[in-house]
Amino acid sequence: MEKEGLPALGWAARDTSGHLSPYSFSRRVQEDDDVTIKVLFCGICHTDLHIAKNDWGNTLYPVVPGHEITTKRLVGVVTDIGRGVDGFKIGETVGVGYFVGSCRTRISCSKGYENYCAKLEITSNGVGRDGENTRGGFSDVLVVNQDYVLRVPDTLPMDGAAPLLCAGVTMYTPMMRHGLNAPGKHLGVVGLGGLGHLAIKFGKAFGMTVTVISSSPAKRQEALDRLGADAFLLSSDPEEMKAAAGTMDGIIDTVSAGHPIVPLLDVLSPMGQIVLVGGPSEPLELPAYAIVPGGKGIVGNLVGSIRDCQAMLDFAGKHGITADVEVVKMDYVNTAVQRLQRNDVRYRFVIDVAGSQPPRRLSRV
Ligand code: NAP
Ligand code: ZN
Repeated sequence: MEKEGLPALGWAARDTSGHLSPYSFSRRVQEDDDVTIKVLFCGICHTDLHIAKNDWGNTLYPVVPGHEITTKRLVGVVTDIGRGVDGFKIGETVGVGYFVGSCRTRISCSKGYENYCAKLEITSNGVGRDGENTRGGFSDVLVVNQDYVLRVPDTLPMDGAAPLLCAGVTMYTPMMRHGLNAPGKHLGVVGLGGLGHLAIKFGKAFGMTVTVISSSPAKRQEALDRLGADAFLLSSDPEEMKAAAGTMDGIIDTVSAGHPIVPLLDVLSPMGQIVLVGGPSEPLELPAYAIVPGGKGIVGNLVGSIRDCQAMLDFAGKHGITADVEVVKMDYVNTAVQRLQRNDVRYRFVIDVAGSQPPRRLSRV
């Protein structure tokens, strides 16, 4: 008899309104190298909002978002492990991030940057190994290949750690790759949201000078006093921007909407780079003069590899880095997404998924 997948209950968007509502579906059948986990916490990344509203024109409706997942191996939580799984210790906190599979053979995977695999199996709004659309962590249960499950240091709270699985690794990886991880370096962080506030925390843990470049005057004091940034520039103030011309070694641009890039290139020092991670649907406006005379560069970054993500989690554990979160119940998700759209969150919503649903016993414990 063919095995049946585990029934799952999630919240899905069904059209470009992005409105989420309860949605029942089946998880793929667990294979020998899989773990089945009950989702405890899941962050709301701006990518979830882009996907729910089809901002990038590639949404596979109905879509269950969510790719910043934490859970714990407890009886009834990591509910089942396949015969070939190396083992997760009882009580261990684990996480799942932006992707749950890759080809493992071609160049990106063999060189250890599987996050750039052409066959990347993303956690939500992708195509899974069973050929079905993948559905993310805005749901009660997940089946994941063991190689894409991360170990989260036990010292970190599970709610504050969830955003590390996407936002955290997306800040840490380009810092490591582009030498923005050394004392004495000056990092600019554009956009003080879920990603940006973690860039300050990682940047300060690396001993760098960190300047926030923001469109929100109301964030100045909290950036300096609470988050520990060294300086704050209002992107709409030409005088403030001019005073910082040529001072930064690198910039990480996390802005989710279209915005001018030339003023950002102006504050870079010669041969400095902007790392683009934000995903506005509008194209960049880039005149050659903005990069040619200073030998400046623009590069992209998509999350990080599994190895990067584990290194980031270990670093975060050592330095006590977690996201500033507002924990909400699942039925608040539409309000949370609207508030995220209006730039009204300090700094990440995290859904208490397990605490939002009637308890259910999963059959295989
Ligand atoms: P977020 O919490 O909404 O933060 C984005 C920030 O961008 C806002 O807090 C705001 O900061 C700024 N911003 C928003 N609209 C703006 C506008 N019209 N003009 C100027 N600034 C504006 O979002 P997030 O979760 O950090 O994600 C940010 C972006 O990164 C999204 O596009 C997301 O899809 C993308 N992302 C990429 C990766 C990757 O691997 N490349 C991973 C995760 C997310 P201020 O108020 O300070 O201006
Ligand atoms: Zn994300």
